[in-house]
Amino acid sequence: MRAPDRSRDLLLRSTGMEPADLGVLGLYNNTYGPLPGHYLDRAFSCRDCGAEEVWTAKQQKWWHEIVHGSIESRAVRCLACRRARRAALAPSREGKGANRLGEMSERLRGLAGSAPTEASRAEVDAALESKWWSLRVLAIAALGRWGTAADIARLCAFVDAPRSRWDLWRIEGAGAAVKALAGCLRHPEDDGWAIEVCLRGHGGPWSWREFLSAIPADRIAAFAKEEFARRDGDADRVLRLLALMHCIGRAPSPTQMAIVRTHACKDVRLWMRHFPSEVA
Ligand SMILES: [Zn+2]
Repeated sequence: MRAPDRSRDLLLRSTGMEPADLGVLGLYNNTYGPLPGHYLDRAFSCRDCGAEEVWTAKQQKWWHEIVHGSIESRAVRCLACRRARRAALAPSREGKGANRLGEMSERLRGLAGSAPTEASRAEVDAALESKWWSLRVLAIAALGRWGTAADIARLCAFVDAPRSRWDLWRIEGAGAAVKALAGCLRHPEDDGWAIEVCLRGHGGPWSWREFLSAIPADRIAAFAKEEFARRDGDADRVLRLLALMHCIGRAPSPTQMAIVRTHACKDVRLWMRHFPSEVA
């Protein structure tokens, strides 16, 4: 943390405020309103018993930044009433259907383990639209387990889908699809696509390490030659290519090393330290 931020934080704390982490709030809140720079103790009346309570700045920080409670949510009940309410609700939660998410997760794992039928496909399709992301991830895993040409095409579409860094579901879904595809990719037809996915940052090479490791050295070298030759190229692609090569234990050729060592981007030049010949 930079010095000005720390002195700001100390100043806020000395006045009973808690500084807010805008990075975390921005990631978990989809709001058009402004995000707070700090939290202040808030007085409220308990919805059930009317007691005057204080929702402290510290509790707010915990609620919004650790639990990821919506920035629009507020404390509405005192502690005693929260406990009473939880106890009153408990019996109905234990009833049949209360653990719906758990049951549906089990069901999807079961469907994934047996050959697909029209009915099980319909269930997986429905799960892909579920409000619960964990069910969507299980549905994606099921497509990978089935692994028919159509399933693989759908998984590839997930991975290829354009997205911004704020499309949290697209990022999560693509990550799940990358994992699901690990056992479905074939040499040599998927080699080029898989490398390109890694270079675009749509999939980390670690999920596909085994597959990438089996791509012939000259194929990787050809990619490297092309990427490294683009002097005005995208530094992120070069970085991802170096990460991919490092992941599967390949090093750029001496000629390529010489080129990369003088790359315009400092991060690229620093990355070269990860390769053995640079250590010496
Ligand atoms: Zn109360």
